[in-house]
Amino acid sequence: MLQKKNYKFWFCTGSQDLYGEECLNKVADHSRRIVEELNKCGILPYEVIWKPTLITNELIRRTFNEANLDETCAGVITWMHTFSPAKSWILGLQEFRKPLLHLHTQFNEELPYDSIDMDFMNENQSAHGDREYGHIVSRMRIERKVIVGHWSDPVVAGKIASWMRTAVGIVESSHIRVMRVADNMRNVAVTEGDKVEAQIKFGWEVDAYPVNEIAESVDAVSTADVNALVEEYYDKYEILLEGRDPEEFRKHVAVQAQIEIGFERFLEEKNYQAIVTHFGDLGALKQLPGLAIQRLMEKGYGFGAEGDWKVAAMVRLMKIMTSDIKDAKGTSMLEDYTYNLVKGKEGILQAHMLEICPSIADGPISIKCQPLSMGNREDPARLVFSSKEGHGIATSLIDLGNRFRLIINDVECKKVEKPMPNLPVASNFWTPEPDMYTGAEAWILAGGAHHTTFTYDLNAEQMGDWANAMGIEAVYIDKDTRIRDLKKDLILGEIFYR
Ligand code: MN
Repeated sequence: MLQKKNYKFWFCTGSQDLYGEECLNKVADHSRRIVEELNKCGILPYEVIWKPTLITNELIRRTFNEANLDETCAGVITWMHTFSPAKSWILGLQEFRKPLLHLHTQFNEELPYDSIDMDFMNENQSAHGDREYGHIVSRMRIERKVIVGHWSDPVVAGKIASWMRTAVGIVESSHIRVMRVADNMRNVAVTEGDKVEAQIKFGWEVDAYPVNEIAESVDAVSTADVNALVEEYYDKYEILLEGRDPEEFRKHVAVQAQIEIGFERFLEEKNYQAIVTHFGDLGALKQLPGLAIQRLMEKGYGFGAEGDWKVAAMVRLMKIMTSDIKDAKGTSMLEDYTYNLVKGKEGILQAHMLEICPSIADGPISIKCQPLSMGNREDPARLVFSSKEGHGIATSLIDLGNRFRLIINDVECKKVEKPMPNLPVASNFWTPEPDMYTGAEAWILAGGAHHTTFTYDLNAEQMGDWANAMGIEAVYIDKDTRIRDLKKDLILGEIFYR
């Protein structure tokens, strides 16, 4: 269901006509060459499109407005090859509404010691022109990314690639539509929030439907369709009967297959890409959607449990941002469940009642069927697995009453020491940076939720840049976090973001 979109990024080179036609021809050649090489390097997830050199107020303004209108354009990369008087950029920048990257590079890598003269200097003065341009972007308080280095350096291309994913998150955010088939869990605070403000800030549409409307869609799925999907499950996953009758087990699994198909049809028909459920509001559904929701998340749908629409939208957002990554390690909703506080082995066991995305799984995935300790339905079938090792980020978007804050924690995922044969749900286990104690203290001081949106495939910088582009505060918890500094950051955030 989730496919990488064919986005493009425009490459706009700034200059002026003070140095004559010959110089402008070279500027155009150089920028064309840079675009060609960037497209060839194999590092960028999206194509870069060369645009004619921008030298006048009118052309700059027109180009930025064309970028606004072009649905395939996810952002503009700007670079001043020569000096480009920055007043010419004011109107264009003012009207521009898409992600902006300032690539601070120059065509030549090395000083041409033997041949350098004033003509060369005038032609290759991005060190100078990019400062004039950067000044006006800063003066206009426009959010942008600045990447510095030679364009042929794979590190620079890697940074551009990373920014492109952020940019796609920024432009795609306003296409996220969340279906709520249940309200937030009673008395829970952190899953609540201002949905109108979320639409203003992030562009998310969050709509409610009676749960029985989607239950009717589930009911309408034919037995043949259900059986075909159950066959697929039995081929793909290990079946852990754990003493249950095989026929009875299969019936429980079939309920989830019917929910998967019925939910997906309903979401597609009504054009939603994310969904929330709630174990306490299941209407005519026979089981809490477990396996079904896990499979939908794997297909790219966003999901939040207990009515948590912010997490549902964030899961969808991060699925989109990582959609181009070939060997992606996975993205899921998770929940801080229980700790290991043994010295030197500290970590947080991440799980949920059922709904963890199998994209983060490591090794075999099994189906289990177990009672839920909450709710009043049949024992739901669910996918059970452990997760990959390695670095990831856990994020939490919270509503502080007058504004949103995104908390981003770098975490190190590990294997637990011993098997957990009685744990009937999928899990992950991580140690937050900078360490268990500081990480958890910082998370709690910042107001982070128990539900998180987790990914192995994005970094804190990308999510922080996304938050800033949305005009909200990003709070980082990482190897450099010290509680005293974090408290100061939170105080500054209170002053700045109102
Ligand atoms: Mn929960």
